[in-house]
Amino acid sequence: MQVVERQRNYLRNPLPPGDGICAVCRSNAGNGFEVCYQCGQHRSASGGLQADIVAPIAYSVKGSQHDHSLIAYKAMHRSNAAVQNLSSLTVLYLAYHWDCFSTALGGPFTHIATVPSTRGRQGEHPLETFVAKRLNLPALRAVSNSAYSADDRSFHADRFYLPGGSVAGGRVLLLDDTWTTGGRVQSLAFALRAAGAVAVAAVVIGRRVNPDFGPSKPLVDRLRTAPEFDLSRCALDDE
Ligand SMILES: [Zn+2]
Ligand SMILES: [Zn+2]
Repeated sequence: MQVVERQRNYLRNPLPPGDGICAVCRSNAGNGFEVCYQCGQHRSASGGLQADIVAPIAYSVKGSQHDHSLIAYKAMHRSNAAVQNLSSLTVLYLAYHWDCFSTALGGPFTHIATVPSTRGRQGEHPLETFVAKRLNLPALRAVSNSAYSADDRSFHADRFYLPGGSVAGGRVLLLDDTWTTGGRVQSLAFALRAAGAVAVAAVVIGRRVNPDFGPSKPLVDRLRTAPEFDLSRCALDDE
């Protein structure tokens, strides 16, 4: 809990949808739009087969402490402080909201999945090591389609597949560290749903915001005056 306490001064909760905030990813949607351009693209390209819940834990403003942790926790020479910050934050967040997610999805989670590395990193995903193993859920190991480059941030229905085949009836907790365009998270959500999962909740540790990108300015301004981070604030209450 202390580990989360000391992150409170720089973490910011997602802003509620509406008033130019995307109903899916909580980034800038532009006035009068329900979702941002990218979430709109994913919605149409996936035919609606997407994550049922998208819950960013906090914003990750480029250059901020949280953004730094999200890079440092999986660097070649990983920062133990960053690992501790992010794993405590995520495990506590999930504990707080486990029941809300279960209720919204129609039952408890049956599996956990992380977005596989598209950069050829060997071995287990650090989120699996530091978070997933503490949750007692069987892990689904999706595989990336090598036809797509690591830098490709678009949605592709065939971007990932599940070598095991079916997750019929499953309710999957999809965990990722950073949401930039959301293309990879939603591609994996699509693959899970296509493999039979009945529901997918995507929890992302940081919704990345680039403060140098002009249209993000109103969002960044609002974050400057936003209230202190509150772990118990529920993404589902906003809807
Ligand atoms: Zn969006
Ligand atoms: Zn909740």
